[in-house]
Amino acid sequence: MIMELGLYTGIKTVSYLCGALTFIIGLKMMGSPKRARSGNAIAALGMVVSIFATIFFHTNAQGELKPIPVAVYAVLVLALLSGTLVGWITAKKVQMTKMPELVSMFNGMGGACAALISIIELQHLYHSINANPLSLLLFLANGLPYGLIATILAGLIIGSVSFSGSVIAFLKLNGTMAKPIRLPYYNIINTAFLIALIGYAIYFVLNGGTLASAMLLFLGALVYGVLFTIPIGGADMPVVISLLNSFTGLAAAFGGFLYDNKVMLTGGILVGSAGTLLTLVMCKAMNRSLSSVIFGAFGASATTSASTTEKGSTRDLNASDIAVLMNYSKKVVIVPGYGLAVAQAQHTIKELENLLEERGVEVKYAIHPVAGRMPGHMNVLLAESNVSYDKLVEMDDINPEFDQTDVVLVVGANDVVNPAAKTDPTSPIYGMPILEVNRAHHIIVNKRSMNAGYAGIDNLLFYDSKCAMFFGDAKKALTDLITEIKAL
Ligand code: NDP
Repeated sequence: MIMELGLYTGIKTVSYLCGALTFIIGLKMMGSPKRARSGNAIAALGMVVSIFATIFFHTNAQGELKPIPVAVYAVLVLALLSGTLVGWITAKKVQMTKMPELVSMFNGMGGACAALISIIELQHLYHSINANPLSLLLFLANGLPYGLIATILAGLIIGSVSFSGSVIAFLKLNGTMAKPIRLPYYNIINTAFLIALIGYAIYFVLNGGTLASAMLLFLGALVYGVLFTIPIGGADMPVVISLLNSFTGLAAAFGGFLYDNKVMLTGGILVGSAGTLLTLVMCKAMNRSLSSVIFGAFGASATTSASTTEKGSTRDLNASDIAVLMNYSKKVVIVPGYGLAVAQAQHTIKELENLLEERGVEVKYAIHPVAGRMPGHMNVLLAESNVSYDKLVEMDDINPEFDQTDVVLVVGANDVVNPAAKTDPTSPIYGMPILEVNRAHHIIVNKRSMNAGYAGIDNLLFYDSKCAMFFGDAKKALTDLITEIKAL
């Protein structure tokens, strides 16, 4: 096969095939926390091979190496080095709690790349028409290259929406734009804007357009990305992030079509489909339809709903009381949440698990699919402290076990254990599946105050007669608890 393609094209094709295979293998390995790190490394290696094959085996139609000017090589090396350096340093330095922001920023960069590729390719197309009047005649005789223009514009629009949407998601996650912004009639405005954008793009494909009109589409798509993301708030953010992720994959896949580059196409399709599946899984986990996430107004009534409910009073316990309770329990289930990541208490919780198990207590972790601030956040956090994967039990499997659980220790989790999701039809999280910790014999909730969680709503669990609050930063509170258990 290599001989038929010519040596260089053959090597490039084989490299791309290896790249595409490593993406698939890497993605498969990411399904298990134990192998996720190696999966990531394998896929990254495939990406490096594909990038180098693109640069060093740049061939012409006859399969001969096409000389690249030294200045272009210099720009490529500079871009590769600076990109690698910035990516490496950022990823090394980022705190676990800031990972979702990083993911959303990296995703936005992917969208921006796809949009820029489209702009450059559109320029190439116009340039080739201007430089060769014959090609214009050819186009006019055979009709405009509809497929080519449609592919370029699809990458441009989807990539731009993903870029500006991801920037807004980043600002929301880091707290700069904490509250959703809802313009009057925002649903109607957004839908009309989207229809106008698509309509104009179709007109452009059918009739051709100037570079200026392509820029107008680019700006329009950027504005739509902002309009699309600003009204979405509270607990719907994880869905939006994975949706934007799938947009970036789709935009990259259009780039793959454009260059007839199989590895870019495979990578884009994998990201696009994985993002879409994750979006649907997250919607299911929150019992919300995608349309209600995009067009609904989650959180609009968030602050009013629970505050009007009859709440009752709360009860506090100190570390020594809880130590006695846990020490004499048969089964303890730990519910980790965002606060565990904030406090970086993953190693302390593992120490507590070891201690309790030494004393004959069975310990499990209940994992809610949207606990934390990104999909799989808790799994990654606990894997860091070597918590055994078979101790992490998914929501549907652990819920029936709560009836036989002596103590549930909720650490820095809030929305994912809020019974209002089951009992209060006026609550914005009504219908979202939760960890039914109120079925256990005793519930201990560790957090720093009575403040609300991410969805901004009060938690009726705290007023349950079986529930006691254990106030304090998770790391400090768990360390105190460990000291008290050791002293027994
Ligand atoms: P929540 O945000 O509902 O609650 C976290 C709790 O942790 C807060 O109430 C806070 O209370 C407490 N906390 C914060 N810091 C500390 C600390 N240092 N020590 C102890 N406690 C602390 O988190 P959950 O994990 O329960 O729920 C996740 C929420 O985030 C859901 O609404 C989900 O939809 C949303 N979300 C999920 C994403 C995902 O992909 N998984 C992405 C984006 C949002 P206090 O301030 O009183 O300490």
